[in-house]
Amino acid sequence: MIVGKRTGLEEPGEFVADGVDGLMIEAAGVQKVFEAGGLRVRALRGVDLGIRRGEMVAIMGPSGCGKTTLLNVLSGLDELTGGEVRVDGEPIRGMSDRRRTRFRAEKMGFIFQSYNLIPVLSAIENVELPLLVAGKKPKKARRWALDALEMVGLPEQADKRPAEMSGGQQQRVTVARSLVNNPAIVWADEPTGALDSETSKGIMDLLVRLNREQRQTFVLVTHDAAVAARAHRTILMRDGNITSDEPNGSPRGEGE
Ligand code: ADP
Ligand code: MG
Repeated sequence: MIVGKRTGLEEPGEFVADGVDGLMIEAAGVQKVFEAGGLRVRALRGVDLGIRRGEMVAIMGPSGCGKTTLLNVLSGLDELTGGEVRVDGEPIRGMSDRRRTRFRAEKMGFIFQSYNLIPVLSAIENVELPLLVAGKKPKKARRWALDALEMVGLPEQADKRPAEMSGGQQQRVTVARSLVNNPAIVWADEPTGALDSETSKGIMDLLVRLNREQRQTFVLVTHDAAVAARAHRTILMRDGNITSDEPNGSPRGEGE
């Protein structure tokens, strides 16, 4: 483990310890500085963090505290300014852009607040797109995409375009898209931010079930305490730092 300071992992957990220490994501002293137009923003100021395989972690904190930036540097979408990040044991920093893109395509799925679906494509075409981009055969991509749509309960909507679906259905399509390559990690940035509370609960039921059944690691940013409560653990951020990192005591719902 590269993490020297407190990581929030001191309590023995319920997670399967694959590999040396069972950690899927390790961050040590992570810093991110944005410089734009003479302005310097220290968005991350030395974040230490470890996330286990199969763990679902919620990240909360006021707007502008660095949640999205943290997700972006942990997932390799954005460069870090200082510190070290390892995902599944591999340092993100030394990777070439090409290698990192491939690493992301193989290991990671992404869910955003704005569904980021392509409007002219049907649900199934949106879901299979990452597979086609990754060079999978069209027939196989179609089969996997249908499986993923079934997993999120939308097989009947396969031929609909985003505009023909409700917000909750669109977010289910993005969940299907994020899972279609069976990624080890799913990153979700305010996945229920645009949904009413009932639809939001439906999406969280789905994510909790997938986390339990597929044992994927989930890292989700949310403003909603009810959403965070469904995770195994909640991390609080403020001004580019983690200020609290505690396991969630209460049951997660949906059978766990
Ligand atoms: P959160 O997701 O918690 O709302 P962000 O991670 O988006 O916060 O932003 C953290 C800080 O970094 C904010 O002060 C924000 O203005 C700044 N920031 C984020 N992205 C950029 C960027 N691309 N260029 C300059 N500053 C940025
Ligand atoms: Mg954000």
